[in-house]
Amino acid sequence: MRLLVVEDEPTLQAQLSDALHAAGYAVDCADNGVDASHLGETEPYDAVVLDLGLPRIDGVTVLKSWRASGRAMPVLVLTARDSWHEKVAGIDAGADDYLTKPFHMEELLARLRALLRRAGGHASAELRCGPLALDTRSGRATVDGQALQLTGHEYRVLAYLIHRRDQVVSRAELVEHIYEQDFDRDSNTVEVFIARLRKKLPPGMIETVRGLGYRLVEPQ
Ligand code: CA
Repeated sequence: MRLLVVEDEPTLQAQLSDALHAAGYAVDCADNGVDASHLGETEPYDAVVLDLGLPRIDGVTVLKSWRASGRAMPVLVLTARDSWHEKVAGIDAGADDYLTKPFHMEELLARLRALLRRAGGHASAELRCGPLALDTRSGRATVDGQALQLTGHEYRVLAYLIHRRDQVVSRAELVEHIYEQDFDRDSNTVEVFIARLRKKLPPGMIETVRGLGYRLVEPQ
């Protein structure tokens, strides 16, 4: 899962970026409305954390422009304390949830998990596919209750596939959702991650759909 964090306060931006990385997400950051607007228009984020008080273009305007151009990714807005009118403006502009500053990072992580879950049509924080379970709260994956040892990239690939279980996910889509913008992307490495995951999962769980991509399914 790849996220965009838009926050102009450097300390908070760094805290958000660190916490989200630690939780297994790929994270891009912007510190002003112009960059945020551009990134949100052009990159396929799974969710966005958007501060509303931003330099150059304010957050509500950025959000409205995304929604006007059909960008439907879940957006969690950050609002100033005691600013109920900001919350109203944010929700009216198309925000899916909001948090008031200061907030606890655990709450932000929980709200993001809920947004990502709903976007994928899942009701529970634990995603399952046959014997495979992925607990999005702890970032732990298990097969029949046995923990899988996964690298950061393997976790991102598996998390993306299980959010879209039974659907075909192309290699290009995986590349866009597991790497950050500045990363030297090489779609061949996706094949390497898939090969490693296949060794760790029961046989047949990651199907190759020729010419289209991969699909996570229950083992036969
Ligand atoms: Ca701000």
